[in-house]
Amino acid sequence: MKLIFLGPPGAGKGTLAAKGVEICHIPHISTGALFRSAIAIMNPLGSKVKAVIEEGRLVDDETTILLVKERLAQKDAQSGYILDGFPRTLFQAKALAAFSAVDKVLNLEISDAAALERLSGRRVCRKCGANFHITFNKPKHEHRCDVCGGELFIRKDDREAAIRERLEVYREQTLPLIEYYRNQGLLVDIDGQGLVDTVVTNFKKALEIC
Ligand code: ADP
Ligand code: ADP
Ligand code: ZN
Repeated sequence: MKLIFLGPPGAGKGTLAAKGVEICHIPHISTGALFRSAIAIMNPLGSKVKAVIEEGRLVDDETTILLVKERLAQKDAQSGYILDGFPRTLFQAKALAAFSAVDKVLNLEISDAAALERLSGRRVCRKCGANFHITFNKPKHEHRCDVCGGELFIRKDDREAAIRERLEVYREQTLPLIEYYRNQGLLVDIDGQGLVDTVVTNFKKALEIC
């Protein structure tokens, strides 16, 4: 199953993708996470994208498409994948169509107010990338990851100014993808505002696996 998770920042794409990995046994490929790993080790990709990401703008299409093309060529992605955070522009969507055919596009919907509340309370594990929330998905220990014990940190782009910029960028550049995929009959809308378990149930229904 080749899936795309679409939705504004904070919609719950990463959280649902982590569940989707267990349900569907396919890899979770997050362009944001790939960029953050590159930034953590400050390789050439990391130093190229650091400032752009921290300000909440998009990395250029050429760099992003190449990254995804290389990742999708790996063995574990041959029978399926969850693409989280890619494509984010029409140009990226058209490029993807030339090297991989997707089965479904899940569009997670939430309000701006909910996105702001979620992102400002998000905590991410420095070691394994797991997501937590200080109110909605509390880690057992305030600064430690439940999964691997790694340190939890606040993403630089989860500060209010960068969040507002990202929501604006989403509206301008990513929103047109909803119609693009709807016209191809691939889009399934999912209400992202419920509890994580409810969102997971809706996800299974969308894939007709429960
Ligand atoms: P995205 O990948 O779309 O940016 P995340 O999965 O990182 O979103 O979720 C953003 C924040 O909201 C995280 O702190 C996460 O723990 C929390 N979250 C995710 N899904 C839900 C939900 N259904 N209800 C409440 N909080 C959620
Ligand atoms: P979010 O939680 O906002 O959905 P991600 O972790 O998916 O964030 O992405 C973080 C940042 O990485 C984005 O704000 C952007 O700067 C960069 N990025 C991720 N995916 C893409 C993409 N497909 N195109 C351009 N930039 C991207
Ligand atoms: Zn961890």
